[in-house]
Amino acid sequence: IKVLDIQAIREEFPILHQQVNGKPLAYFDNAATTQKPQQVIDALDGYYKGYNANIHRGIHTLAEKATKAFEETRVALKHFLNAKEAEEIIFTKGTTEAINLVASTYGRQNFGPGDEIIISGLEHHSNIVPWQMVAEEKGAEIKVIPVKENGELDYEHYLTLLSNKTKLVAVNHASNSLGTINPIKEMISAAHKAGAKVLIDGAQASAHLEIDVQALDCDFYAVSAHKFYGPTGTGALYGKRELLEAMPPYQGGGEMIKDVSFEKATYNDIPYKFEAGTPNIADVAAFKEAIDFVDRLGKANIAAYENHLLEYATKALSHIEHIKLVGTAQKKVSVLSFTINGIHHFDIGQMLDARGVAVRTGHHCTQPLMERYGIEGTVRASFAVYNTEQEIDRLVEGLERIVNFMK
Ligand code: PMP
Repeated sequence: IKVLDIQAIREEFPILHQQVNGKPLAYFDNAATTQKPQQVIDALDGYYKGYNANIHRGIHTLAEKATKAFEETRVALKHFLNAKEAEEIIFTKGTTEAINLVASTYGRQNFGPGDEIIISGLEHHSNIVPWQMVAEEKGAEIKVIPVKENGELDYEHYLTLLSNKTKLVAVNHASNSLGTINPIKEMISAAHKAGAKVLIDGAQASAHLEIDVQALDCDFYAVSAHKFYGPTGTGALYGKRELLEAMPPYQGGGEMIKDVSFEKATYNDIPYKFEAGTPNIADVAAFKEAIDFVDRLGKANIAAYENHLLEYATKALSHIEHIKLVGTAQKKVSVLSFTINGIHHFDIGQMLDARGVAVRTGHHCTQPLMERYGIEGTVRASFAVYNTEQEIDRLVEGLERIVNFMK
């Protein structure tokens, strides 16, 4: 593990060096979206200034450059996720679209009446609603793995849900609301023994955890670039080749076909079969810079530093009067969710914002999870590699002031 130069890293993020409401910005909303380093911003600028062109069919120089940049990101993602082949990486708008793609292709093709889809009580709405939609259409049923008080999944209960009716297990690698890291390797292996396929929602894992889709043996894995220092509007679905090849296309249009007549179309090979239309070329090109940024720092080094911040913040916050940490799992990514008795989370968020401290408040797109705890929402501080102890001190000081003020 290498000690990172956090001040130097902060210099790479122009957005961090501003005042918000007269105070230096302390940005703790990283689970919603991370900020972007200069190299990502430069890549966007560089694309539009230097080689904007449509990809794949062009024979002119700019089109070739754009195609090369686009496909280089695919190769970078193959390495980032340790996929066997670059063709197993499909570009999407993000995690949400990746999950919808699987639900409306694999799901529609393979789910029938009485089949079961297992999700967990920790899921983001984007890993709930697509399954509800296809389950309703196909007469399949959704089963939910319960969440224990500490925010961990009830693994024993999960095993009892698996049966020969289970067609798919869809769970997150790490929870956006509580930070819980799920034991997905064991979960995947148990699902496979029952004959089910597994989709992992990696939206929150990608910035913090090593991902090896071959070692995990997951069938699908979804990520969003913007959660790990990349641009918004792009992300990817990893899928095993044999599954992707057997799946029907997602959307129809240009690029995803081989030949089209008015009677019939034949479809392109993977990955293009799932990439209809002109994609988000600029953001995909810049996505590679985000991967390079994370690789340069080293994910293990990032994780070690973030774990330190998480421990530091957890300790400091637990001394605040009337505070309740929500989610105290053994293994967590750097997410701290809490409530303060008697003060609404929105008020806390607003009062912190007045001090330049950006947190998220509300249900974090996990309403069923909030219901599990009998709350409407939490305040969530989520840390990235550019956060500092000094910033956490300002969060703690702000919270102490709020508690005292409300007394
Ligand atoms: N799943 C999880 C666990 C998430 O945190 C998010 C983003 N908050 C999503 C899915 C959806 O990702 P996106 O909005 O980038 O599609």
